Amino acid sequence: MSQGLNTRGTLKTLADRYDVAILGGGITGLTLALQLIQTRPNIRVVVAEKQEHPVPEAAHKVGESGVEIQGHYLRDLLGLEDHLSREQLEKFGLRFFFSDNGNLDIARRVEYGQIGPAPLPSYQLDRGRLENMLGDLISRAGVDFLAGCRVQRVDLQAQAECHVIHLHKAGSDRQVQARWIVDATGRSSLLKRQLGLEKKTGHHANASWFRVGYPIDINEWSTEEAWRARITDGERRLSTNHLMGPGYWVWLIPLASGSISIGIVADAQIHPFEGFNRFERAMDWLGKYEPQCAQVVQRHLDKIQDFRVMKDYAYSCKQVFSNERWCLTGEAGVAIDPLYSAGGDLMAISNGLITDLIERDLCGEEIEEKAVAHNQVYLILVDVWLVTYQEQYQLMGNPQVMVAKIIWDTIIYWAALGLLFFHDKFRRLDDSPGAFQNLFRCCNLHARVQAFFREWHEIDNPAASDVFADPYSLIDFIVDLHTGMAADLTDEELELQFARNVRLLEQVAGQLLHTVIERLSARSGEEPVRNQIERWQNEPLLTELINIFQDEDKTNPIDSSWVTLGYQSGERQEVAP
Ligand SMILES: Cc1cc2nc3c(=O)[nH]c(=O)nc-3n(C[C@H](O)[C@H](O)[C@H](O)COP(=O)(O)OP(=O)(O)OC[C@H]3O[C@@H](n4cnc5c(N)ncnc54)[C@H](O)[C@@H]3O)c2cc1C
Repeated sequence: MSQGLNTRGTLKTLADRYDVAILGGGITGLTLALQLIQTRPNIRVVVAEKQEHPVPEAAHKVGESGVEIQGHYLRDLLGLEDHLSREQLEKFGLRFFFSDNGNLDIARRVEYGQIGPAPLPSYQLDRGRLENMLGDLISRAGVDFLAGCRVQRVDLQAQAECHVIHLHKAGSDRQVQARWIVDATGRSSLLKRQLGLEKKTGHHANASWFRVGYPIDINEWSTEEAWRARITDGERRLSTNHLMGPGYWVWLIPLASGSISIGIVADAQIHPFEGFNRFERAMDWLGKYEPQCAQVVQRHLDKIQDFRVMKDYAYSCKQVFSNERWCLTGEAGVAIDPLYSAGGDLMAISNGLITDLIERDLCGEEIEEKAVAHNQVYLILVDVWLVTYQEQYQLMGNPQVMVAKIIWDTIIYWAALGLLFFHDKFRRLDDSPGAFQNLFRCCNLHARVQAFFREWHEIDNPAASDVFADPYSLIDFIVDLHTGMAADLTDEELELQFARNVRLLEQVAGQLLHTVIERLSARSGEEPVRNQIERWQNEPLLTELINIFQDEDKTNPIDSSWVTLGYQSGERQEVAP
């Protein structure tokens, strides 16, 4: 193999045979190549990427906001801390502003977000800058990285030693062989289409976005001192800022190259795509729903760098890993929803599982059972993430329900998925029936709680403004969950901690139900409210959760104000929907 091939490598210099061929060199394919070569330095890897390198900074791809799992993957597992701290931006958490009175004054909107640094870092990624760095890095590490090279097709050869990949670059064609093929072609989903593995999700939402070559700072949208002073140690502009309304959210993500990424994401039923699928329409849409944002963008129209759209962005996949030595990773497999930036997390998890399969296979291990187990684990996680978003866009205009939902979604992410990922447990879950069962418990719990949020929203949507919800002040155990992900536990300790976390999640779910039922009881004269309370009270699972809450509350009480926008019971006048 030609070592040290640079990103302008040619087809002539390629080896005939590789251990792994990665189709597509976006963030997922490039990080997988790096992970493989770090895991097994003599491995022979080729990455074929159809775009020439270097790719542009700023206006390149979406997938710019990262959360903890992706942060840990890039920083600690792949060792990219230097790049992240010097060339990218450390993120100031997720921040949400809910609609209020025409959205003309940011300072009046219910705000959810941290006031100081979070214990574990996460990052805002300029995707072009990251992919350029990764392309150089893997080339120097000995991967044959072919930029400007299109994969035309692959011939899978389950019975033979190698599959065949047909490449085209700069007017020439070439075939190479590889024992493993990993499809990382993103939405092109080359192998998924070839194998007919497409699966619908039932979640229908659309997005459009653009970058502005000016660092718009949301903190400057109000001059009100008290509002600015809420943030004691950090900068709002470094958060992924979400402007929320019924059926939609708008993102603002700062990029290290000095631009800002702004995107509209909306439920297809509530906000037709045609309303924001061209730049002028998107500006009109912003003018109608997010006028303060529209006014700020209007001032920088001369610095608009691009405009892109994505219709019906969510999809799933019937199978992602096979013992016949092919895998799908990143968006070549599944794409769920960008609200909490899960794309980068799914990439980190699937790359880890793939690296594990390939490493075992190259060590001569039989991988049939592992491939089935990894496939099952990954697709369960996809389903968990999916229920977080599916049918939930309708809640986005309800600050009370949404703040509780964001807190719940954050807690379950840290207590379960984050804890397992940081402890490298996903690839070993089939060896831990206890942990697997607890994961399954979490999934069922999460699905029921998500349905509860919808039911609650149906009967309770009070107007709210001038509220600030800092998750770290609202819930005292949240820091423990956050830092607990990186606690470096032994396997035995991890199993115990995970079991404790699941019990805590059940307590928290029980508290949510109990608190909502108690508060709504004051409105039991209204038939829809009374009927819903009765349905909740007659459901065995919910009764069990409330009992767990009441039991645990005796020794480990949790303040319930996270359910009620920070208000203690009796503090606020209820406003009927
Ligand atoms: C609106 C929206 C917003 C999002 N925001 C976030 C976010 O904030 N945070 C987050 O984590 N995730 C986000 N995501 C998801 C994120 O975009 C993906 O997780 C991530 O970009 C997937 O990377 P990838 O490498 O799998 O795909 P890509 O980055 O698309 O890479 C695939 C690569 O394959 C190449 N390719 C395709 N076909 C061929 C071929 N035939 N031959 C050779 N090369 C080929 C392409 O050129 C491309 O470079 C968002 C998604 C959407 C739709």
